[in-house]
Amino acid sequence: MKNSAERLIWFKGDIMPVSEAKINVLSPSSQFGANVFEGLRAYWNDEDEQLYIFKLSDHINRLLQSIKMMRFECNYSADFLRQSVLDIIRANKFKEDIAVRQTIFLDGFGSWASTDPTDMFIAPIEKGRQYPVEKVGIECCVSSWERISDKSMSPKIKMGANYMNSRMGQMEAVRNGYDSTIFLNDQGKVSEGPGSCIFIVRAGQLITPPVTASILESITRATIIDIARNDLKLNVVERDIDRTELYIADEIFLCGTAVEIVPVIGVDRLPVGEANKGLVTQRVEQLYFNIVRGYSNEYKIWLTPVYER
Ligand code: PMP
Repeated sequence: MKNSAERLIWFKGDIMPVSEAKINVLSPSSQFGANVFEGLRAYWNDEDEQLYIFKLSDHINRLLQSIKMMRFECNYSADFLRQSVLDIIRANKFKEDIAVRQTIFLDGFGSWASTDPTDMFIAPIEKGRQYPVEKVGIECCVSSWERISDKSMSPKIKMGANYMNSRMGQMEAVRNGYDSTIFLNDQGKVSEGPGSCIFIVRAGQLITPPVTASILESITRATIIDIARNDLKLNVVERDIDRTELYIADEIFLCGTAVEIVPVIGVDRLPVGEANKGLVTQRVEQLYFNIVRGYSNEYKIWLTPVYER
């Protein structure tokens, strides 16, 4: 992995070392978190000598939706947004697993209600597994903070400011000796983690909150629903989940581009199932990593190769 000083980023149309990129301290982005972004991953496949970006077009679509909902004035085409991601990864010549942050931000000297000028940066960032691999799973609490809702700050918009709600929950969890947290929404139903969606297993059924449960419309969540139905032949249900169902679930895992798939082995100090990585979680995880790394021909349609071969 490159050290961060030599790492190149895409910044306002140029490719430059990260240390040279400067943003106005008075910009609405730096003052109020007025930006929208995507977090992508790309996985290196040794056999194919190829770096595969997972579901690039889905990320670009969601970025365009966030831009629209925030009423940012800009005219980026999907093709330009996709091509710029490829350009900056190629410029860095990465041959390893990477994460990429693509951010559209409100620049200049404006207020929280400005709609322009907007600009973009794309930064490949060092990121292995979020939690140490030797850890079987994580301990979570149910947050005393409520998840933001579509009535106030929509969790469907992947904007910087939303993560201050995540911050409150995550900091509380760590203060109290947990690894992470699970939010309830304004209806008191299970919503999501601070940067991930949630699945529980009950009696062999895979259950996840619906997209109306105050969640980000997660690309990993949609992937897992697809592959669990089509390949694992599991019964997958999108429905509200009660807090107490977390206490009696057989298995729970969090999912997202960054966290990938992480078993939750305890909630509020009650063990989840055998407090181990459950069978369903193992099967989903194995299939997911096969697909993202490019070992499944059937699912290569979800991958964008970075290098020409
Ligand atoms: N919920 C939140 C709040 C997130 O920040 C993320 C990470 N982007 C997710 C869910 C998972 O989304 P995805 O699978 O698209 O990465």
